[in-house]
Amino acid sequence: MRRTEAVVIGGGQAGLAMSRCLTDSRVDHVVLERGRVAERWRSERWDSLRLLTPNWQSRLPGFRYDGPDPDGYMSGHEVVDYLDRYAASFPAPVEDGTNVLALEAASSGYRATTDRGVWEAPSVVIATGQCDTPLVPAIARQLPEDIVQVVPTRYRNPRQLPEGGVLVVGASATGVQLADEIHASGRPVTLAVGRHTRLPRIYRGRDIMWWFDALGILDETAEEVPDLAASRRQPSLQLVGRPDRATLDLPTLTAHGVRLVGKLSGAEGSRVSFAEDLVAHTAAADARLARLLQRIDIFAARTGLDAEVGGKEPFRPFRWPAPAPAELDLASEGIRTVLWATGFRCLYPWLKVPVLGPDGEIRHRGGVTPSSGLYTIGLNFLRRRKSSFIDGVGRDAMDLTLHLTEHLRRAA
Ligand SMILES: Cc1cc2nc3c(=O)[nH]c(=O)nc-3n(C[C@H](O)[C@H](O)[C@H](O)COP(=O)(O)OP(=O)(O)OC[C@H]3O[C@@H](n4cnc5c(N)ncnc54)[C@H](O)[C@@H]3O)c2cc1C
Repeated sequence: MRRTEAVVIGGGQAGLAMSRCLTDSRVDHVVLERGRVAERWRSERWDSLRLLTPNWQSRLPGFRYDGPDPDGYMSGHEVVDYLDRYAASFPAPVEDGTNVLALEAASSGYRATTDRGVWEAPSVVIATGQCDTPLVPAIARQLPEDIVQVVPTRYRNPRQLPEGGVLVVGASATGVQLADEIHASGRPVTLAVGRHTRLPRIYRGRDIMWWFDALGILDETAEEVPDLAASRRQPSLQLVGRPDRATLDLPTLTAHGVRLVGKLSGAEGSRVSFAEDLVAHTAAADARLARLLQRIDIFAARTGLDAEVGGKEPFRPFRWPAPAPAELDLASEGIRTVLWATGFRCLYPWLKVPVLGPDGEIRHRGGVTPSSGLYTIGLNFLRRRKSSFIDGVGRDAMDLTLHLTEHLRRAA
């Protein structure tokens, strides 16, 4: 058995940011990672994926993007390289290939049993990632057996899919990107759309993330939003980070030939049905976008940016090409694949400390769990809107390190 002051579980950006802050605060610790650093970027992302945040926004404690293309978007391989370099930029005590099989309370604080031995520490930080396990709705079980079902963590490129039509369920970042890519491969795509966030890639000559940054939208804290639970459930942004800096929203997809339908609501044999909510969802997304662009315009005028950025751009609401079908027969439509882009959930089968709520999520306030000395980091809106982004996890790591060092001081 080995002892340390803090065990960090997970060697992605959150675990590394935490490790960097603990190192700066001279807290003896270890990062236990079941795979390699940035494992999910190595083995759970599709081939063409690029960050949807621009490179300049890759800012971690003590380390920021310093390459030649600050306005570009890193590929998955480049993210792995970036995080590898981050881990090498300070003496990050990463023990890779170490799977935590159980975390339980012990007299000294916590005991982490791994497949490579046992660790004990008065404090533990769970950094196993918000995008842990693809969330697949129960409807999936009602689909016929000859339909190939794919989740984004297993999808690599369209070539692995059978020929024929594809139903992509979910129209946030993953859904719109994969619908577009699969459609371009010659497979007709139907996209089932629920609540979503429409955004232009560029507005008035600046990246939309630049505007978010300037307006401080991503810095909003958990205390500042009226309904934190709802903010945590918000769908990811309809964005893609391509070198051509193109917008990828529903109008673009329909122009490319993707067919839109409402939210998938049922399946019986090969017949699937969709809620009649598509018009309502797109109208709501348009209204939110119109308000955002207006907010940007007011901000630009008030701060004198009007003189620096491009002129105001007219907002074009989505115009419907054709009414959406409420039902489809997968067999007669030639749809052979269903791709679930329906989000993620966290599973903690190894977590034996009683901190899980009825929904299976860790109960916490800003990453501080009810179990003294146990923390979590990297979750949606943990402390700020940007908590699960590369650019956001660092501030949370600094805050949690302060809390953790105080806990160690008291425990000593
Ligand atoms: C498709 C996709 C695109 C994204 N694009 C962007 C983007 O453009 N910009 C941005 O800022 N954010 C983006 N994100 C969000 C976020 O940056 C990523 O989800 C990121 O991987 C989160 O980092 P993390 O360290 O919190 O978790 P993860 O990267 O998930 O790391 C968790 C680590 O914990 C390890 N682990 C899990 N269980 C155990 C265990 N029991 N024992 C030991 N180790 C364990 C895993 O192997 C993994 O390496 C994207 C997310 C997804 C899914």
